[in-house]
Amino acid sequence: MTSSRDYYEILGVAKGASAEEIKKAYRKLALKYHPDRNAGDRAAEEKFKELSKAYEALSDPERRAAYDRYGPAAFEAQGGATSAGFHDPFEIFKEVFGGSGLFGEGVFGSLFEEAFGVGGNKRSRQERGADLRCDLEIDFEEAALGCEKQIAFPKLDVCSACGGSGVAPGSSRKACPTCHGQGQVRVTRGFLTVAQTCPRCQGTGAVVERPCASCRGEGRVKQTAEMSIKIPAGIDDGYRLRLAGYGERGSAGGPAGDLYVVVHVRRHEVFERQGNDLYCDMPISFVQAALGGEATVPCLVGKATLKIPAGTQSGQVFRLRGRGVADVHGRGIGDLLVRVAVEVPTRLNAEQREKLEAFAASCAPDTHPQQEGFLERAKRFFSGE
Ligand SMILES: [Zn+2]
Ligand SMILES: [Zn+2]
Repeated sequence: MTSSRDYYEILGVAKGASAEEIKKAYRKLALKYHPDRNAGDRAAEEKFKELSKAYEALSDPERRAAYDRYGPAAFEAQGGATSAGFHDPFEIFKEVFGGSGLFGEGVFGSLFEEAFGVGGNKRSRQERGADLRCDLEIDFEEAALGCEKQIAFPKLDVCSACGGSGVAPGSSRKACPTCHGQGQVRVTRGFLTVAQTCPRCQGTGAVVERPCASCRGEGRVKQTAEMSIKIPAGIDDGYRLRLAGYGERGSAGGPAGDLYVVVHVRRHEVFERQGNDLYCDMPISFVQAALGGEATVPCLVGKATLKIPAGTQSGQVFRLRGRGVADVHGRGIGDLLVRVAVEVPTRLNAEQREKLEAFAASCAPDTHPQQEGFLERAKRFFSGE
């Protein structure tokens, strides 16, 4: 960790900059130094990482306050060594641009707490709920155009039979008879008497007469949670959507975990996708290829007309601008690339055959220049020139 440059300086903002100003500055610089735009440029990559680190610290009010108090050294001690392994600058980048960022606060937040001793004992009983993952398969068009989907996933949630108390209806919680509600028992060891956590009530001081049968006294049971989610247009296979707070409930009032929906996109019969561009293979007749003309091309939405110039060859690719997929972050629309395959008729009637033979008889060497060129090269090859 070489840099201990001032984070405000890195982002080019004043010390008192607002959250919006910081975000704006980061967005601008991150775009400039993003590795996608600076392929192979190590300096840009370092710059991008440095930016991400600075933004990560200053975008969180708590961390920013600590940074203002302790300076960069405080982060370097813990964050410096760990940041490379624990957070991916691209994830923050995605978050700023509206994508899904894993490990948004979770991991770094807890490291921070450890480093500064914030929380610690105070919150020892409160625990954040677990993150959940849910897989969702959607159609190609749904991913490209966006949609709304109903999802169902198993989730540990409040037991409806006992309302989360863990006590069977009609029964109640009573003081633990072993420790008389103290949560601790005194054990004599030799001439010493020490206090120990009560083994019967695990220190809670209460026992349940009859535990709830549905949740076996846990207060929570696995349930099927259902919800409707919006899939943004332009999403691609493998994309993770993060729904903050839709994971499992925390214990003792701790925050809920997050739900990650991993999107799987079914293949399309016609289109293939690469980034925001679509590709398709389209057969055209050999007459169409020779004479030229117009062909109707299927698009994601509607159709388009493709002008085929006379003398088009098999494998030639035509680009239809703006007929691809809308970028998931709202940065433009991809293109549709149509590769034509010239189809040769497989069955000819007598009249067609006759006409084609007449056509062949009329051909000069320059009618098929590629073939002619190939024959020339082949001749040289065989004669050993
Ligand atoms: Zn007890
Ligand atoms: Zn229950």
